[in-house]
Amino acid sequence: MSAKVWLVGAGPGDPELLTLKAVKALNQADIVMIDDLVNPAVLEHCPSARIMPVGKRGGCRSTPQAFIHRLMLRYARQGKCVVRLKGGDPCIFGRGSEEADWLSEHGIAVEMVNGITAGLAGATTCGIPLTLRGVARGVTLVTAHTQDDSSLNWQALAQSGTTLVVYMGVAKLPEIRESLLAGGMRADMPVAMIENASLPHQRECRSSLGAMQQAAQNFQLKSPAILVIGEVAAQPNMQLAAISA
Ligand code: SAH
Repeated sequence: MSAKVWLVGAGPGDPELLTLKAVKALNQADIVMIDDLVNPAVLEHCPSARIMPVGKRGGCRSTPQAFIHRLMLRYARQGKCVVRLKGGDPCIFGRGSEEADWLSEHGIAVEMVNGITAGLAGATTCGIPLTLRGVARGVTLVTAHTQDDSSLNWQALAQSGTTLVVYMGVAKLPEIRESLLAGGMRADMPVAMIENASLPHQRECRSSLGAMQQAAQNFQLKSPAILVIGEVAAQPNMQLAAISA
């Protein structure tokens, strides 16, 4: 059997949001290397696999990326079925493509399996449509956290007319707020902050761009959370719901 690694998205947390393909890969796995944000409940699909936690939450004890690369390579070359399991989707702020490129360069075949990314799951579980006819013609996924401190073009984002979904933003709320206000976004633009999306302890805090920092503080918003910024964050529209009920 030729060496192969599966790069699999575990989804946002709710084990029922795993894809059938992810379940199939887990079923076949000998080794499963998991990130911090993966809900361990999904491991019921690989009862006999060896589980290796290799998470690296920002600022905490971390497993160097080079070490993860070498581990995947070693086990794949031993002919083991290796599943690299990542929270959400492997290629949305998940370094999936970096790992795939590295493995390919070392002669290992890679199969990627999508997962439901946290931004989509968070919005949907709160009833927020990220696109909405006549309201939001698009959606932009951004991270507030960069390795090199390079800055996003917040002005372009503020004026894009698309819904913004911000990952890794909890520690950067003041900067996000300031940058979007400076870029011309209205202070009363609706914002939803969704913590632990799709999990039983999910919490959501609705606010506005101008008030979001204070609201998050009162709410004691914690990571992992996503921010949805845009007109759609006022959805579901309770008035409409009441009329149609
Ligand atoms: N690949 C992942 C994202 C990893 S980056 C995905 O596609 O979802 C980590 C960030 O994702 C967190 O800081 C947070 O912003 C977001 N995140 C991951 N899981 C989450 C969850 N269950 N609820 C809310 N945000 C989550």
